Amino acid sequence: MVFNTILSTFRSVRMRQRWLLGAIATLTASCAIVLTLMTPAQATGVQIWPGSPHLGDTISVVMQVNDGNAPTLEYDGGRYPSYLIGSNRYRALLPTTPLDRPGRKEIRFALNGEARNFAVELRNRSFPTQSIRVGSGTSTSATDHELNRMRQFRETVTPEKFWQGAFARPAEGRVSSEYGIRRYYNGEFAENYYHRGVDYAGGTGTPIYAPADGRVALVGRVADGFRVNGNSIGIDHGQGVGSVFIHLSRIDVREGDRVQTGQLIGAIGATGLATGPNLHWGLFVNGQAVDPVPWREAGFE
Ligand SMILES: [Zn+2]
Repeated sequence: MVFNTILSTFRSVRMRQRWLLGAIATLTASCAIVLTLMTPAQATGVQIWPGSPHLGDTISVVMQVNDGNAPTLEYDGGRYPSYLIGSNRYRALLPTTPLDRPGRKEIRFALNGEARNFAVELRNRSFPTQSIRVGSGTSTSATDHELNRMRQFRETVTPEKFWQGAFARPAEGRVSSEYGIRRYYNGEFAENYYHRGVDYAGGTGTPIYAPADGRVALVGRVADGFRVNGNSIGIDHGQGVGSVFIHLSRIDVREGDRVQTGQLIGAIGATGLATGPNLHWGLFVNGQAVDPVPWREAGFE
């Protein structure tokens, strides 16, 4: 009886030990997988920033390239180019938006002839919501002209990089609508809507300044069919990064102009579909409207 108890205790200790060893082995194995995917980043000439992105963030991948081949990155079903930013250093920018599904995302590319695979955890983020009541017959739709011009602008990719360092605030005035706000229309959640920029409240005529160096790639006017966006400016900052400014009362630049950070480009207005004078600034990275805040605070290489 006593012996049996001792034996069974011994057995259960053995079993517990075995279970523990098995658990440690499993844990070690899963850690190893995570380590292979995640940590050799710095050790092998790849830097991914931010390490723990959330919806709306831009993910920067900087790579040490020794064979002169600019890597093309595969991420979340898209393909993204990389550009030379320094001696043998290439950088790709991966946009994320409030419409993305949070969770584990893989980044794959070939670096110096070798297939590389990294994982990032795209974290969820809660965005404020608005409830909008719309009556029938009150909708104003965009013209094909403005839709086409805006699409062309978003798809503009210039290999040259014009911006340097963190972006500047484009206008004085409080932020009246932040990036990413989601909406309910007549009580129904709008799956594809999110506020694709930041709104600054300011009286008509308040100056607007270029937030970073670039080239004016779009000037659109109400008179030419910019019915919803109103008078608009698009600045190409290069390498797939671009700013749009809409609802302007005045435009002080022409297409093709080179502009510098802080240069006066126009003035706040309420043209197009606007409830009052405000500046909507949208920042696009490879065609997607991203949160401009990290571009203003930390900036991207
Ligand atoms: Zn807006």
